[in-house]
Amino acid sequence: MKYIKKKLTIENVKIHDIAKKFNTPTYCYSYSQLKKNINNFKKNFKTFSPLICFAIKSNTNLNLIREIKKFGLGADVVSMGELMMALKAGINPKKIVFSGVGKTSNEINYAIDKKILLINAESKSEIREIDRIAKIKKRKIQIGIRLNPNTDAKTLSQISTGKKENKFGVNEKTFLQLVNYCKKSKNINLECLSVHIGSQILDYKPYEKMLHTIDKIIVKTNHKFKFIDLGGGMGISYEDNSKKLNYSKYNIAIKKFLKKNSSKIIFEPGRSIVGNVGYLISKVIYIKENDKKDFVILDAAMNDLMRPALYGAIHKILPSIKRNQISKKIYEFVGPICESTDKFTSLKKFQKLKENDIIIMCDVGAYGMSLSSNYNLRPKPAELLIEGSKIKVIKKRQKHTDLM
Ligand SMILES: *Cc1c(COP(=O)(O)O)cnc(C)c1O
Repeated sequence: MKYIKKKLTIENVKIHDIAKKFNTPTYCYSYSQLKKNINNFKKNFKTFSPLICFAIKSNTNLNLIREIKKFGLGADVVSMGELMMALKAGINPKKIVFSGVGKTSNEINYAIDKKILLINAESKSEIREIDRIAKIKKRKIQIGIRLNPNTDAKTLSQISTGKKENKFGVNEKTFLQLVNYCKKSKNINLECLSVHIGSQILDYKPYEKMLHTIDKIIVKTNHKFKFIDLGGGMGISYEDNSKKLNYSKYNIAIKKFLKKNSSKIIFEPGRSIVGNVGYLISKVIYIKENDKKDFVILDAAMNDLMRPALYGAIHKILPSIKRNQISKKIYEFVGPICESTDKFTSLKKFQKLKENDIIIMCDVGAYGMSLSSNYNLRPKPAELLIEGSKIKVIKKRQKHTDLM
């Protein structure tokens, strides 16, 4: 994405033209960025060629998942719907792992029937349930157990998952008991230890600490794990000159771990694959003047992009056409929804905007559209995939009649 003759351009397409042709709000994704991210991810860990399972919850668009599949990635799913979507996109079941704290019997049944690689169990009760269903089906099921390593991922508290007060995984003591339970079971084959300590992690040290914890626990279990699933969580830069995750240090820590443990590594990245691939194009409906700040009222709202309202996340905003005049007042970018949290960000010294101007919000490819809703009975935006000068509609805009 860059300005060419003052016009903001994704690959070879001007944002302004997209807005005119496809209307707003609209999500669009850059294919070349997607390709770059996947290739970089592979390159960062190429010495031990991990199985990379894309976290479907970060972006559930069928056509986008199809593209991701073409690079050989598998999927990490957290519901039956996501599992169905991954299969529909053509992902090999032997590259699918199923995570989540509350898988229902129905979901476990389905996952077993589809012969996926691993069900990563997160509690005693869940393992008993898998055991029960497997016995009825006279099958031996490959599972993983998710460990809660009690590691602070040093990220937003709302997206931290690996501390002992978080609901995810089991603690060390339970983990050790469950390993013994699995060893005795005729219907369960314990093949994986899994962890996922949080999202938007920018410091490699929590990962290093997590590996150290896993290492110690593996020794205590005296069990050979075929797979070690390290989860996802690799952070991206939402703001200019923000910190970057040191992949090389993470890679070194894993290689050190693998010297003692010869397991296959699984990753479950979501954000790092699709986050900076997506943009949300929106139009300024009104500018409402106020004492200290002006409200820029957009046609995109918290139902289209929930992260700011849900986590206080900030997305960079850029005008589609660059002009020189700067606003003297602070702009508060808001949506039309009847909630005070329907607000994106406040910016000083933004370029002076007019009604009907087009802006974009950046880095919305992960947890953007997938977290969207129909709140206020607003139809969901269209989604486009851009490759060079080609624009493909990969999901049509919802119509009001779809909602009635
Ligand atoms: C959400 C989630 C991921 C993906 O996290 P990112 O931060 O998007 O990489 C991976 N594994 C599990 C179990 C998850 O819940």
